[in-house]
Amino acid sequence: MPVSRRNRYCPGIHPLPAGPKGSRRNGAAVFLDRDGTITQERDYIRHPDDLHLYKRSAEALRLLRKNGFSLVVVTNQSGVARKYLTLGTLHRIHDKMVSLLARHGVRLDAIYYCPHHPEERCPARKPRPGMPHRAASTLKLDLTHSYVVGDMKTDMDLAREIGAKGVLVRTGHSWKGKDSFPVERRSRDLYSAARWIVRDFQKSQGDRT
Ligand SMILES: [Mg+2]
Ligand SMILES: [Zn+2]
Repeated sequence: MPVSRRNRYCPGIHPLPAGPKGSRRNGAAVFLDRDGTITQERDYIRHPDDLHLYKRSAEALRLLRKNGFSLVVVTNQSGVARKYLTLGTLHRIHDKMVSLLARHGVRLDAIYYCPHHPEERCPARKPRPGMPHRAASTLKLDLTHSYVVGDMKTDMDLAREIGAKGVLVRTGHSWKGKDSFPVERRSRDLYSAARWIVRDFQKSQGDRT
């Protein structure tokens, strides 16, 4: 079946093991790009063996979770449409990420992916807002107090699209040209992004009371 026929099923959802109920949430999410943000950038990860976390990724996600944020991965995976990898392999790659993070005590709330080619104009492909919108209704999230962390302009455009704040990390795709568009924050890596987000969120809560 051509990937395009799956359009109405997008975003793809990676099944996650059920977590403990009742952990404290603040109603906001951090939407996380995968490649170049949580995991090391390679041109199209095609096999679980190619997937590696950045050194401080698990620590960053633990910090966000401890502060009540929902953790939602949103990833464009057009390599599927380009036939670099199958959906089955994509799931095995995500299983590996989940288990690497679990080893560090980190649980994600959701992993959404869009397997489509840019030309298919899928409404879930970043910077279009399909993935965060799905997350917002499933997880009852307040998008305007949420954040998007990523290494590309697409991720920052997504942030603007959903009324969230964009945090651009220096990891992943070349830093060249990354100064040429506005973002709420530029951070060295996911961990420094997480620290800024925690502070910024606390500040905004303070302003509201
Ligand atoms: Mg990326
Ligand atoms: Zn899609």
